[in-house]
Amino acid sequence: MDTHSVAEPKINFDNSFSRSMEGFYVPCVAARFSAPKLTLFNHTLAKELGLNAADFKSDEGAAIFSGQAIPDGAAPLAQVYAGHQFGHLSPQLGDGRALLLGEITDTDGKRRDIQLKGSGPTPFSRNGDGLAALGPVLREYLMGEAMHALGIPTTRALAAVTTGDQVYRETKLPGAILTRIAASHIRVGTFQYFAARNDQDKVRQLSDYAIERHYPGVQKASNPYLAFFNEVVKAQASLIAQWMNVGFIHGVMNTDNMTISGETIDYGPCAFMDVFNPETCFSSIDTQGRYAFEQQPPIGQWNLTRLAETLLPLIDEDEEKAVEIMTKAVNEYRDLYEDAWLTGAAAKIGLSSPSKEDQVLILQLFSMMVSDATDFTQVFRRLSDVLRGNCVPVQTLFKNQSGLKAWLNQWQSRLETQHRSFTDVADKIDRINPIYIARNHKVEEALDAAVNDGDLTLFDDLLDLVSNPFTERLGMDAYTRPAPESTVPYQTFCGT
Ligand code: AMP
Ligand code: MG
Repeated sequence: MDTHSVAEPKINFDNSFSRSMEGFYVPCVAARFSAPKLTLFNHTLAKELGLNAADFKSDEGAAIFSGQAIPDGAAPLAQVYAGHQFGHLSPQLGDGRALLLGEITDTDGKRRDIQLKGSGPTPFSRNGDGLAALGPVLREYLMGEAMHALGIPTTRALAAVTTGDQVYRETKLPGAILTRIAASHIRVGTFQYFAARNDQDKVRQLSDYAIERHYPGVQKASNPYLAFFNEVVKAQASLIAQWMNVGFIHGVMNTDNMTISGETIDYGPCAFMDVFNPETCFSSIDTQGRYAFEQQPPIGQWNLTRLAETLLPLIDEDEEKAVEIMTKAVNEYRDLYEDAWLTGAAAKIGLSSPSKEDQVLILQLFSMMVSDATDFTQVFRRLSDVLRGNCVPVQTLFKNQSGLKAWLNQWQSRLETQHRSFTDVADKIDRINPIYIARNHKVEEALDAAVNDGDLTLFDDLLDLVSNPFTERLGMDAYTRPAPESTVPYQTFCGT
């Protein structure tokens, strides 16, 4: 391949994975693309990474973020992994359309991966073309930024490049490449790949690497591998609780799409729920609703159980004992999740240090929201109006007015026991509950204009709003409302 390397602009790569994890990847380069063009660049993130945005403005940026030019110090590679997909183990997956360029240290001293997604075939592409279409690249860009702005751990987009070439899905579509930043790309499935081959040395090596990179604090524990697992359980319980509290549905919670770092990854057929229905499932390929909204917490535990299985030989020589220890560790997920969820849900209605009674109060509200099919996001946001003396906005969202009235009274009595002014609580509610989420019909409208008309105006507007989701802006009412009824149910297709 005649991919050329460039010395400028300078990116200070320090590639620990490539250096120390031989056997976990295959060195690879990108395919050739006819006319790469830098479409989006994330200036805020670039700053965090210590990159100089001006360096990437020119054609050089397009060349680097499409893999046509390999910056000095990069060591592009495709990582190997396995994964349970919809409950079935695929022992051989891997980066079929992604390249890890390398790692850099951000301005906070944290190590971050820079990965290209959609950069052409790798030895792990199987029957895939290794490519990505512009629509899904833009969706991942937008969703990652929306989640980040909501304070939820996630991979983020640094850039999006159009390739100038077509990709073939159900129809011909413009091709694109996403540059993605992650704490790392180590997945539950990475462990499964080596465990499935009974390669215990590699599972240990991977654990040691993941510990050093993500959870160095456990190195001193009496059983570091158990302590490591406990940390992953904690991180995932917290992550999924945060998804649930913003109405986010990942869509494909296969074990290859679950990180060890606790970041949300692989935004495919994901979406935010409008109308609160716990059974909501947007993905066209998830016909059984395995990854429906309400299934996400138990699926989290199911996936972590698969991770636990890979670690058994590291936990104790006596297999029975190892199973006993890890069963207990897996079962801790439930309480950790419940606690994280309750703390988050209580904060949404202005309560700190929630009690069991508060949980009942919250579940009463949820149950009314489900019965009345209210918009998930608006209800919480409108609670602050109540505390400022205006009940009308929240009332318009419910049918059961007497139930709502009773609940609001009970809620305000509880708030009074906190001895904080209602104005303070109202402000707090507004800082926690977004007014703008990436609503399906708005996402679809923006992607449609970008893909079919090459017009990014709607996308830029939406990205701007969801990047500042708590601040109400004049004239943006259309972005706060659910889809008109004629356009639901919404489906996202996995043609990613
Ligand atoms: P995903 O469902 O997007 O997380 O992908 C599951 C697996 O399929 C991963 O190993 C991907 O690398 C691979 N894959 C997805 N799309 C493609 C594609 N267009 N070409 C090659 N591999 C792909
Ligand atoms: Mg994936």
